[in-house]
Amino acid sequence: MAQRIPVVAGNWKMNFDHLEATYFIQKLAWLLRDAHFDFKGTEIVIMPSFTSIRSVQVLIEAEKMRIGVGAQTVSETSDGAFTGDISAQMLARLGCKYVIIGHSERRKYHPEDDANIVDKVRAVLAADMNPILCVGESFEERKQGIELEYAVNQVHDVMRDLSDKEAQRMLIAYEPIWAVGTGMVATPQSAQDAANAIRDYFKKTYGTDVSEKVRILYGGSVNASNAQALMEGPDVDGFLVGGAALDAEEFSRIARLTSRSARRRLAHR
Ligand code: PEP
Repeated sequence: MAQRIPVVAGNWKMNFDHLEATYFIQKLAWLLRDAHFDFKGTEIVIMPSFTSIRSVQVLIEAEKMRIGVGAQTVSETSDGAFTGDISAQMLARLGCKYVIIGHSERRKYHPEDDANIVDKVRAVLAADMNPILCVGESFEERKQGIELEYAVNQVHDVMRDLSDKEAQRMLIAYEPIWAVGTGMVATPQSAQDAANAIRDYFKKTYGTDVSEKVRILYGGSVNASNAQALMEGPDVDGFLVGGAALDAEEFSRIARLTSRSARRRLAHR
């Protein structure tokens, strides 16, 4: 069985200017180092606003911090007359490793829909970065009891033309919409069930080798009080964190709890 390195990714949404962002990163790096954080065993990634990415990247490189940088969205096109858009190539040049695609807030407030999500995923893969594809049901689908099918179909809609090599570079964030930014969190069992259903989709479509490599995150009101229980599901490989990623101490606690769970998992293999 492949050993998957968990990821704890902080989605800052539209918070922090570049000065606040660099202050936060310094504090986070200090907190993690002070706690002897195992950076090899768990990946830490921050997704700042576009305006802060460069400052954060320069700081991380200068101080040799082991924190990754990502972006919250990307254009599906590579260049040209697309006022206000940012291309995957531009993000890759800034050292971004991950890009969130299909976040429920972008599906709701911007035209990020199934058609352009596929193109965005392709653009990110072509620029040698890893997409973090967000999927997950609303209350409606949950009430109907079709949440697993719904999330798997969302994954399938995006994945259908991707090769095995591309598929294994995907990260999927299962983020039930009703849990994002609401304080309501999925139970560890339902996070595990969704992660398992998504992994099963990868297994059926691409085989065991790919399905054992793909990292599946949970997102939706994760904090330091629920992270450990959520990590108990063997298919949950870390978190996409929103609100709690705006507090360096809380975020570092989530990172440490994830790392501890990952070590325990490894010991029981
Ligand atoms: C998110 O923005 O992806 C998210 C999960 O937010 P929160 O943790 O605040 O629910």
